[in-house]
This record gives sequence, structure tokens and C-alpha cells, in this order.
Amino acid sequence: MDRSQAANAILMEMSNSASDFMSTYSSLPDILDNLVELTAQRERQRLEISLLTTLRELLPECTVALYSCRWIDGHPWWRIQLDALNEYPQQPQPWTLPNSKMLRILLQQEERQAVYATETGLCVPLFQANQIVAVLMITPQGKQAPDSKLLIALARIHENFLNLLHVSDSDTLTGLNNRRKFDAQLYSMVARQQHSQLLPFLALLDIDHFKQVNDGYGHIIGDEVLLMLAQRMQRFFGEDDGLYRYGGEEFAILLQAVSADKAQAVLEGFCQYISNQPFPQVGRVTVSIGFTRLDPSQAPSSLINRADKALYFSKSNGRNQVNQFETLQQQGVVSEAEVSSGDIDLF
Ligand code: GH3
Ligand code: MG
Ligand code: MG
Repeated sequence: MDRSQAANAILMEMSNSASDFMSTYSSLPDILDNLVELTAQRERQRLEISLLTTLRELLPECTVALYSCRWIDGHPWWRIQLDALNEYPQQPQPWTLPNSKMLRILLQQEERQAVYATETGLCVPLFQANQIVAVLMITPQGKQAPDSKLLIALARIHENFLNLLHVSDSDTLTGLNNRRKFDAQLYSMVARQQHSQLLPFLALLDIDHFKQVNDGYGHIIGDEVLLMLAQRMQRFFGEDDGLYRYGGEEFAILLQAVSADKAQAVLEGFCQYISNQPFPQVGRVTVSIGFTRLDPSQAPSSLINRADKALYFSKSNGRNQVNQFETLQQQGVVSEAEVSSGDIDLF
């Protein structure tokens, strides 16, 4: 199934779940407003907030929280994503092991149901590609049990939108986030007040002498290198770091670190990791990286320009290395106004 067929199938599913939903609750105009709000969202976090707001309005006698799930070697871990007040934790919470009942649900060892009863109320798993990626936990506060038909309909609409977002945000070759997602994420990170104690950084990464890989081994092997590099990025970087295919053989990382030195060390660690892990057929591959602090007073285009300058410096200074724009600027090696040029096709 290609992307447009997949998107059509999802749209069809969405329209079915929306009509199931509306046939049950057609007398409630507020629900329509909520659905309009829910389906207008283009970002996962907004979609989540919208879902929980809708559920709270429709189930006023319940508290509703959203947990996200992460799978490591076939084992599910979870952490709270949105609490009963519809707030994201200020710091990402540690991933924890769910209790044995939840574990059975997440591992789908129980007979598959849309809604499960738990010790505290109800749990509605949200699926993506047949794997549970999040869980809605509903705790009734009064005597009235929540309407599970309503819950299921909303959960399915949410799932369908998550799948659509995933298709529109992903790069088809590598599975990383794509350029569209990068642009949106960078804009929102710059616009948003940072509450975290971690500092955000933007890194741009470019494979060294990649043309030689294509020329020497063919485009298909070149594609294989791109895919393997992306997989190694996913293995190396943290869950909260954003990984993007920026275009061609260039990647972007939105990274969080306690300091610029720590960010430099992590990125150098990645350069080393890549240069030490042979790629089948091709052998050694190296990457060059430039990065900059995500200074919120700067426009996104200026931040990209800074990381790009630092990357250009890494290339011209011998490749297989990491440089930070601010350090190079202090050393007088690069300046903001300078326009990168030369034989390196960065973007
Ligand atoms: P440098 O170290 O200066 O970055 O050298 P380079 O050879 O990597 O740089 P250049 O920009 O000259 O070459 C990039 C090559 O990447 C050119 C293009 O054919 C190839 N490329 C871009 N996108 C893809 C892709 O999706 N698949 C494959 N196989 N190659 C790609
Ligand atoms: Mg290159
Ligand atoms: Mg390039």
C-alpha cells in the first residue's frame, strides 16, 4: 500500500469512526465543536491536549490522564504524558515498568478489547502499527460509570489522526521525522518558553564524501547507508532528542543537554560511534557535525544558518568532527554575516 492509499484508508476509517460517534451522540452540538477542535490539530501534543479536554468535558465525573508507552527489546515502559490537569510534566518523567495487570494489557496477553477494567477505573490503549503507543486512564470520581462507547469512538478518532500525522511527518526511506516536521518543531521550540533545566541545541549532520559511496557502490547501497545511519542515530540518541532527515544525506538533531560542553561531548561520541561501526560493503563512514545553542532571540532561519556555518567549518577543517557555532565565533573563525560557499553542497 503506498502513502496515498494508506492516507485514504485512514481517512475512510476516520469518517466511519466519526459517523459511529455522531450517530450515538448526534444530539450534542458541543461534541461537534470538540471534534472540530480535535481534528484541526497538526501537532501530536496539541492533539493530545485536545483529546483530553474533549474527554473531560464529556465525562465530567471522571479524571482522565494520558500515559505514553515506549518499547525496548519487546518490553513496554510507560510514563505520564498528560496529567489530570491537562499539563505536561515540566521535566520528562522517567520511564517506569507498569504493574502486572497493565503489563498484560500492554503486551496484549489479555483478550484484545477496546477498553479494559483496571483497579482504578478504565484503560483505553491507543495503537499505532499494531503496537500500543499510549494509554488513556479514566478514573470515575462519582458513581456513574463512564460511557465506554464514547471512549472507544474518541480513542479511534485520535488513533486515526496519530497515524495520519505519522505518515505526513515521516521520511519514507529512513523512517526518521522529515523536513516538514523539523520546520514545525524548530519553530515551536523557538516560540515556546523553555521550562526545562536542559538546554536545547540544533545540530546539522552531513555524511562525509557520500558521493564516493554512490559512485563506488551504487545508489542502492547509498540508500542502505542512509537507512543504517538513521537506525544508528535512533539507537544512540535519547528518546527526547528529535531526529530528522533534513534532505539528501543531511540530518538534523534537536538535542537537549545540560551544557554546551555536554552537547559537544554527546555529538563527538556519535561521530566516533559511526566511524567505529563498519557499514556492510562500504566499510568506514564518517560524518561531520555543526551545532548551535537554540537561542530563543534568534529566528529559526538564523539558527539553521549558524549550525550550517559550524558544519561547513567541520568539513573544511578535516571532516569527521563536531564544532559549535558560538565557540567558533568567539575564536573569530566564523561570523554571522559570512555566507557559506565553496564546493560543499550543504542543503
Ligand atoms: P562532503 O564530505 O563534502 O559532504 O562530500 P559529499 O560527497 O558527501 O557531498 P556532496 O553534497 O557532493 O554529495 C552528496 C551526495 O548525496 C550527492 C547525491 O547524489 C547524494 N544523495 C542525496 N540524496 C540521496 C539519496 O536519497 N540516496 C542516495 N543514494 N544518494 C543521495
Ligand atoms: Mg556530504
Ligand atoms: Mg551534503
